[in-house]
Amino acid sequence: MERETVCSVVVPMYNEEEVISETYKRLKKVMDGTGETYELIFVNDGSRDRSAEIIKELAKNDKNIRLIDFSRNFGHQVAVTAGLDYAVGQAVVIIDADLQDPPEVIPEMMKKWREGYHVVYGKRLKRQGETVFKKATAYLFYRVLGMLTNDSIPKDTGDFRLIDRKVCDAMKKLTEKNRFLRGMISWVGFNQTAVEYVRDERFAGETKYPLKKMLKFAADGIFSFTYKPLKLASYLGFILSISGFLYLLYVLYQRFIAHATVSGWASTIAVNIVFNGITLIILGIIGEYVGRIYEEAKDRPLYIVKETVGFTVDGDKEQN
Ligand code: UDP
Ligand code: MG
Repeated sequence: MERETVCSVVVPMYNEEEVISETYKRLKKVMDGTGETYELIFVNDGSRDRSAEIIKELAKNDKNIRLIDFSRNFGHQVAVTAGLDYAVGQAVVIIDADLQDPPEVIPEMMKKWREGYHVVYGKRLKRQGETVFKKATAYLFYRVLGMLTNDSIPKDTGDFRLIDRKVCDAMKKLTEKNRFLRGMISWVGFNQTAVEYVRDERFAGETKYPLKKMLKFAADGIFSFTYKPLKLASYLGFILSISGFLYLLYVLYQRFIAHATVSGWASTIAVNIVFNGITLIILGIIGEYVGRIYEEAKDRPLYIVKETVGFTVDGDKEQN
């Protein structure tokens, strides 16, 4: 084998043909500057554009490039997972392909890593060029998630981070199908620290996270990390039963002591609709968990690889 690889950089990409050459250039410059051995692992998440071809072309002249080409789109979190499975570096950096996470922060992360930290995550000081809607929903999401998980997951951090080999190996043992990586990385523990950075605008192209994917991602963050929403049923049930009982006492008082006729067709219907709504919401919450159990029970592989390029030893990808 050649010299041990110090740093692996994992770059998930989905239809990023407009940015990927530039991303490669900036990553190469930064990584060459560190003077360490490194590999750049591009994971093509079923792009329908030329992203993979561009990387293959670049790989002809750069032996540090690797490509994992998926058979179809499996999603961002799964693409990163594949990168972690294949990475051989002593440190592994996860970075977006669209240059929103500046590669220039990597040396800073490596410095912290050399100081002995096992996880160095990027904390967004500011987000540039993102819609008010995205910022507001992200803000809200991290607060709700914090409330539900006792603040164990760092707020306002993306997946841009460096993890040590030990953390990477620990991550491979978490085989859950619905993946919320930043939460999983917190869960495995180790010494964690942050470096702050300003999140840039996307270099080119548009977001590959439409509202639907964002909602799925948020649901994974919550339902894969806590079963507190399930308790909602018991809490609500409790409160409603008590209020119902008190109301019953009031009705009995009206009927037998005050001798007033209890009217209220409208109020009956209103209460009915509200209560049925609550029941359906609770059923939906239970459904979220049942669906996740179903996915785990099927136990399908997380992703299917069509082709790999640039990996020297074929067994590289074998876990552990
Ligand atoms: N991405 C991916 N698969 C997907 C969606 C996105 O690999 O199904 C990649 C995308 O190419 C980018 C990263 O995930 O490198 C983050 O996506 P994006 O920048 O579109 O998200 P945003 O920054 O808008 O939240
Ligand atoms: Mg982006």
